[in-house]
Amino acid sequence: MRILLTNDDGIHAPGLAVLEAIARQFSDDIWICAPAEEQSGAGHSLTLTRPVRMRQHDARRFSVSGTPTDAVTMGLRKALPGPPDLILSGVNRGANLGDDVTYSGTVSAAIEGALAGIRSIALSQVYAREGMGDTVPFAAAEAWGAKVIAPLLGAPFAPRTLVNVNFPALDPQAVKGIRVCRQGFHDYARGSVVEGTDPRGYPYYWFGLHGIEHTAGHATDLEAIDEGFVSVTPLQLDLTHDASLAALAERFA
Ligand code: MN
Repeated sequence: MRILLTNDDGIHAPGLAVLEAIARQFSDDIWICAPAEEQSGAGHSLTLTRPVRMRQHDARRFSVSGTPTDAVTMGLRKALPGPPDLILSGVNRGANLGDDVTYSGTVSAAIEGALAGIRSIALSQVYAREGMGDTVPFAAAEAWGAKVIAPLLGAPFAPRTLVNVNFPALDPQAVKGIRVCRQGFHDYARGSVVEGTDPRGYPYYWFGLHGIEHTAGHATDLEAIDEGFVSVTPLQLDLTHDASLAALAERFA
């Protein structure tokens, strides 16, 4: 089984090494094609206005000077000798839950894989408090990663769907299990916009992490993580809101 690994935290991120260790429990045919620099928050962006550079670090390890979507595209079109059987994206440093998935480069890399018709899974490690940087503990992902991936290898993946996995910020033995659940949503209350002055005297703005406040949903990814479970959420690329189709059509009748 050929597996392509990517992420949005960059080729040197600790979470990518965690993901490689998880993937090697399933195969030795592991390929890495990841952004050269951190791309968190890049969403599904594709670099169109400048060239993309790819650097080969060893026989099966490449970095790309663009977004996670660029990295998957380069992996599929240029780096790998043929299509992978599986794409794993992560393990992200931080949650990708609820409606945050649209900001996520980690999830978007898996979206790109799903568009290419390849079984794709995004994996993220929730952590307890802000400002932990590269000290974020990946213990839950390390211990539970293979347990959550193994059943997904034989599961049916409908066209243009992917699976989004989040590991709770708990020691592995405190994790209660794995819960398949739908995507939740946050209350819309964006966090701080930090304002400062740069060395040349101009103001700059820096978006802080927004809180994870959310109205308790029913069987959502947010709820599963709150209750100490690994969340497993199937996502689809068809964003159509079916329930609105008829009402909108009436407006144009
Ligand atoms: Mn990230």
